[in-house]
Amino acid sequence: MATPAAATRSSEALRLAQQAWKLLHIDSARAIALADQALAKALARQDAAGEGWARLARGFHLIYFARPRVAAPELRAAQQIFERLGDAAGRILAQTGVARGLWRAGRYDESLQLVLALRDEGLAVLRHEQRGLLLNTIAGCYSARNESEQAFAYMYQALRDAPPARGHGYDAVLHCNLAHELMQLGDYDEALKHVEAGLARFDHAKNPRLASVLWINRIIVLTEIGRAAEVLADIERVVALPTDASGRGALTPHFETMAIAAFSAGDAGLGRRLVERAREVEREPIVEEQLELALAEALLARAEGDLPRAASQLAAAHDRAAAGDLGVSLRVRCAVHLLQSEVLEAHGDAAAALAAVREWQRLSVERAQLASRAHYQAAALQTELLLLQHQLDEKDAQRRATERARAELEAANKALSQKMSEVQSLQEALRQQATRDELTGLFNRRHLNNTLPAMWALSQREHKPLAAVIIDLDHFKRVNDERGHDAGDRLLAAFGRVLVANLRKSDVACRYGGEEFCVLMPETDAAGARRKIAALLKRWRVESLVQGAVADAGTSFSAGVADSLRVVESWQALLKRADDELLTAKREGRNRVLVAA
Ligand code: GH3
Ligand code: MG
Ligand code: MG
Repeated sequence: MATPAAATRSSEALRLAQQAWKLLHIDSARAIALADQALAKALARQDAAGEGWARLARGFHLIYFARPRVAAPELRAAQQIFERLGDAAGRILAQTGVARGLWRAGRYDESLQLVLALRDEGLAVLRHEQRGLLLNTIAGCYSARNESEQAFAYMYQALRDAPPARGHGYDAVLHCNLAHELMQLGDYDEALKHVEAGLARFDHAKNPRLASVLWINRIIVLTEIGRAAEVLADIERVVALPTDASGRGALTPHFETMAIAAFSAGDAGLGRRLVERAREVEREPIVEEQLELALAEALLARAEGDLPRAASQLAAAHDRAAAGDLGVSLRVRCAVHLLQSEVLEAHGDAAAALAAVREWQRLSVERAQLASRAHYQAAALQTELLLLQHQLDEKDAQRRATERARAELEAANKALSQKMSEVQSLQEALRQQATRDELTGLFNRRHLNNTLPAMWALSQREHKPLAAVIIDLDHFKRVNDERGHDAGDRLLAAFGRVLVANLRKSDVACRYGGEEFCVLMPETDAAGARRKIAALLKRWRVESLVQGAVADAGTSFSAGVADSLRVVESWQALLKRADDELLTAKREGRNRVLVAA
């Protein structure tokens, strides 16, 4: 088990790695330094999460500043770590990085397949710039396939998901890519806006690579809209950047692009120098770059007055442009055909010039159509993504509702158990009422019937006497008649109190009905019970007067006593014998206690 100290150290690697991630587009040098530091710490502590995020940040940095084959192993290692940890966000980002690498190597279809498979899960687990990264990678693939409308849709969505406040500078990348895509469609004014928005988002010295891509885009846009004269400062800036980790990274310097701009600006000297440098660049076989180099060579040849050389450069480029290779933009294809028509016309080949113009025209119409479809498609995709988001939100709401339902159920259970105990005490009260007589507080007849059989059985088993006494107040009717029913009630209650006060705890005193009472006396024989009740009679004669009895009415009682030693048949028989004795007592003149013989 990790000690607290180890846990603190491992989270430090993670913290550094995530800081590196956030700085990736804002301060590239600091980002890679932090990522390296995080990786060293994570490896020393065997901190998998820290290592995963450190490798992820390093991998993305390398995509920008090194060649794809350098970045790929780092990203695959990160992917494996995140798979092991079950970190879905990390895994999806690492895979997105791998896809970005494939894209950079010109493997657009493979890249698209990979990122499309990640899309829905990614939208569910990624936030802000992470979502932007995934969506922008999808956009890049569509862009390379000349499916501009799809590319736009994803880019605009990415920009919405990674707004300036949350994008950690990634929004600058998105503006850059949007500008690039808009340039393909010929919407240069809009493209320029995005270039400027991107450049405004970060300190250019802290991410020179991103700055250089934005500057190149500005150079292209201004050249296309006839403002080439304004691009010279940008060219100077880009040329000054070294091709290493502190500058443009492994990004090709785009000397050919800048050469085209220089010729357009009328600076043939600068154009020539840039073409010469473009020739020296060791490059991967990117068709678009080769076409731009051909354009620059043709412009140089024309500037030098060598029209046949310009024409032959363009003829070779023309075939490539007409082939419509993957990754070759409409913008560059248009530029090839347009320049070709100019050169051919100057050379006096009107028919060939016309054919080139027609091709340029056809592509321009295609661009215009793409531009209008792109707006429509962007809206359609936005709807699709909104629906998806809606579904995710609903799932989330369902989950929360389930949690809420669980909480409500718990509360309901709690309320229920509270109610249960309430009900229990209520039932206890009801039970009390069922065994007690309300007026006197003595047990009722029902309780007597429930209790007597057990007491009887016990007395029989232990051969111990159980006495039963039945008491009936004498001439009680007259109390009611003379003093009223309430006074009668009070007297009955008083008798109950006297009864309880003079009996043992183990005796069971019941109101048998009306003004009749029954007393069960365990371990007491009839003689003992008689003595006890006779003493009670004496006491009652005094007490009853205090309690409001009338002379000769309710002031005495008659009682019959029997016990289980002499009446052995049944408890019913026991009661019957006591009752018989009571009747005899009444008959013999009341105010007495008789025992069954
Ligand atoms: P005896 O000596 O023969 O027993 O005369 P008695 O009047 O006591 O007997 P009787 O059976 O004729 O009358 C019983 C009376 O007891 C009738 C009734 O008015 C009264 N009584 C019975 N239950 C209650 C009661 O709960 N409250 C009051 N106030 N009176 C009751
Ligand atoms: Mg009676
Ligand atoms: Mg009576």
